[in-house]
Amino acid sequence: MSEPSTPLMRQYAAIKKEHPNALLFFRLGDFYELFFDDAVLAARELQITLTSRNKEKGVDIPMCGVPYHAADGYIAKLIRRGFKVAVCEQVEDPRLAKKLVRREVTRVVTPGTAADSSLNAEENNFLAAVATVGDRVGFAALDLSTGEFRATEFAGESAGRRIQEELEQLRPREMLYGSSAPLLERTTTQMRSFAPLDGPEARHHTSLSTGTAPIARVSGFGWAETPLDDWIFAPDHAIPLLENHFGVLSLEGFGLAGKPAAASAAGAILYYIRSTQRGTLDHVDRIGFYERQNCLVLDAVTVRNLELIEPLFAGTDAGVTLFRCLDATVTPMGKRLLRMWMLRPSLDRGEIEGRLDAVAVQVKDTVRREELRRSLDGILDLERLLSRVTLETANPRDVLALAASLGRIPRVRTVLDGLAAARLATLRGAIDELGDLREKIERTLVPEPPLTLSDGGVIAPGVDKDLDELRDLSRNSKQYLAQVEIRERERTGIGSLKVKFNSIFGYYIEISKANLHHAPADYERKQTLVNAERFTTPELKEYESKILDAQEKIVEIERRLFAELRSSIAAEAKRIRQTALALAEVDVLGCMAQIAALRNYCRPRFEQKIDEAEKTADVLDLEIVEGRHPVIELQELAAGSERFVPNDLFLDSSTHNIVVLTGPNMGGKSTYLRQAALIVIMAQMGSFVPARAVRLGIVDRVFTRIGASDNVARGRSTFMVEMTETAAILHTATARSLILLDEVGRGTSTYDGLAIAWAAVEYLHVRVRAKTLFATHYFELTELAEQLSGVKNYHVSVKETGGGVVFLRRVEPGAADRSYGIEVAKLAGLPNEVVVRAREVLAEHESSEHRLSGHLTPGAEAERPTQLTIFTPLSQPVLEKLREVDLNRLTPLEALNLLAELKKEI
Ligand code: ADP
Ligand code: MG
Repeated sequence: MSEPSTPLMRQYAAIKKEHPNALLFFRLGDFYELFFDDAVLAARELQITLTSRNKEKGVDIPMCGVPYHAADGYIAKLIRRGFKVAVCEQVEDPRLAKKLVRREVTRVVTPGTAADSSLNAEENNFLAAVATVGDRVGFAALDLSTGEFRATEFAGESAGRRIQEELEQLRPREMLYGSSAPLLERTTTQMRSFAPLDGPEARHHTSLSTGTAPIARVSGFGWAETPLDDWIFAPDHAIPLLENHFGVLSLEGFGLAGKPAAASAAGAILYYIRSTQRGTLDHVDRIGFYERQNCLVLDAVTVRNLELIEPLFAGTDAGVTLFRCLDATVTPMGKRLLRMWMLRPSLDRGEIEGRLDAVAVQVKDTVRREELRRSLDGILDLERLLSRVTLETANPRDVLALAASLGRIPRVRTVLDGLAAARLATLRGAIDELGDLREKIERTLVPEPPLTLSDGGVIAPGVDKDLDELRDLSRNSKQYLAQVEIRERERTGIGSLKVKFNSIFGYYIEISKANLHHAPADYERKQTLVNAERFTTPELKEYESKILDAQEKIVEIERRLFAELRSSIAAEAKRIRQTALALAEVDVLGCMAQIAALRNYCRPRFEQKIDEAEKTADVLDLEIVEGRHPVIELQELAAGSERFVPNDLFLDSSTHNIVVLTGPNMGGKSTYLRQAALIVIMAQMGSFVPARAVRLGIVDRVFTRIGASDNVARGRSTFMVEMTETAAILHTATARSLILLDEVGRGTSTYDGLAIAWAAVEYLHVRVRAKTLFATHYFELTELAEQLSGVKNYHVSVKETGGGVVFLRRVEPGAADRSYGIEVAKLAGLPNEVVVRAREVLAEHESSEHRLSGHLTPGAEAERPTQLTIFTPLSQPVLEKLREVDLNRLTPLEALNLLAELKKEI
């Protein structure tokens, strides 16, 4: 940029220099304008017209702008695309400014710090940070729009993977890290192989500090990455910052003492928020240290495969997710909590039973259940309204909406009174009616205030004496002007004379051209129009300044009073937040009851406490009687077609450790597997479950892996993906885990896939003893049941009728009939010759590959004859040697020696 020639552009340049990485929204009158590269980029992203300004010195300055009242929508759009926006306001009244209006950046909005009304109410909007302290890696995340703040830390080998799991689960919008953090590089590189979609490879960075980087910076993982100077993450900077903010002497109360990495990550977040936002941040009133051990762990692949939150294939009906299926919440806070519980089901039996009790009383009491839901309906997003109040972005209508929501709370408490469950009583106690605050808001504001403060009219009469007097003055002056009009008409004899006001010329007397000759001498000419002339008089001028003064003072007083109101609300942030959290939980419990009652779900029975279980290492059964898949059941109902066929499941740690499930395509295998996982997850959320009865012990992790061809959308090296995922399971599963393997091993040639699947099942059986459901098209695997005591075969049943194959969708003991595929082909009308030949080929094939198992099961009880001659692991070295020799160069003697050597080796 060459040296700007106007004062305005010099002011712009100075401010832009402070915010090199943000798009600068520069307030000019009723518009926010963008200049130079910002303008080019914003015009493209927002689809608005790019113009140019002042061809000063022959140089065009690219420019585009948006009206101030529509700015929030445009800003939100840019934020969603990963840009940062600095909003620069006029901080003095242009009418009072001597020359150039003073301007300042009043807030910087970034993807991770957005707290406006355009956020998706169902999701949290997390800003995350990763910090490394020695060999420990800390992770923290804050949702500024709700005040939720938490941190954790890891050490050792697995730290990178754990951080990655956190990131995948929380899906932050923006991530902060030290500009020279080496660990993060490793983590994100690893993550590339896990990223759900292959995003753009290039990462664009920007920095608060260096200012050299470009503005755009959404990483391939869907969040913006913001490197900060390393010192911001230093514990001796970050920890005192946190202590200060929370007003504590040590972080012990938050569980963060002795967790320097977690605290550093959290401190960096706070630093970043403070440097981008104004306001007190009163709603960020606590931080929680957490450990993954607190909840049933669902890794990102499992969350995806089970379609908990998003459908597997983008673009499909969102109705297929578990979240949509179970969401009957009525408040935005409730929606977010339900989602949270779904992604982090509990491991604490006391907690789970508490929730189940609360659900159970409501299932029985239809009247109160519905009353409770009605009483919650209409309570707006208290958490987000509060955050806008403390960030000083709340407008008068936001504040009034807050009061209206508070007004509904007493009813909620009354209804809760009639429901006898300990959990609900606790929540009732935690809900604060906040009547004092509501009264204050309703007393201070008019019932239907304008959106902004700029024209006044927000504060109710009777609140402030000065304000009331000034308002009287400006009201009376209107009357006065009307009197002037009558008087001047009489004096001049011009019946059409008007006394008017506009914001540019102030007050004036207007006379039509035809009557001009009647204008008295004391009229001063002000403006000439085509058909009329406008005048002023000394008397009018005096009134004008008096009224303008009054108007200005009115707005000033209203601003002050509104700011006072806002800070008195912010001062109650703790109470409001606590109330919002309790209401969210009441909402979710009510939602679970509603769904349970409508869909005939049952209460799961947990058999033993987790802590006892850990001492005794006694792993409990998982028994499901007439289980259903909650989502598919719903879809089938909606389609009005087939009724869902319920199925039983029994898994234990001895005889039914691993179930191998076979059967034709479309037979219902995947559905059966998933419904088991969904039922476990729902049970540990504290929800009733789609079954007639369920008995289980606490499950620590659920893993779900789907073979590659069922998962083609991902289009990466499928074998590599499958093996990486399988490896992760074999490493982390415990006897308390539930593993679903659906057609794993498909992504490769038959023998590799079969061999790996076989070995994996053996390993699970011998080492891990996790409860495992394995759906497979490898019939060879059904032989495992003969060799391993904990493996059982089941199949999905099919009935052949004259008209075709009917899927009975019933899961039954024993392996499927191997030749069902051929039978299906026959029914489909393939020529008989082809069917007969197919049976022959199958029979040949079966006898030749049958003995594979003998090699893959060392130590299996029955020694089996080895038939696979040359292709056995034993003969591998011999093969290698043979492959290496060049027969054309061997003398007969050498050939003979080689043969002797090979023979010796065998
Ligand atoms: P597979 O994995 O054996 O190929 P799926 O589990 O994908 O079969 O099931 C195919 C379809 O059959 C599902 O989309 C669902 O509509 C239907 N289905 C599966 N299980 C049942 C059941 N128990 N009752 C009714 N319909 C079912
Ligand atoms: Mg399947």
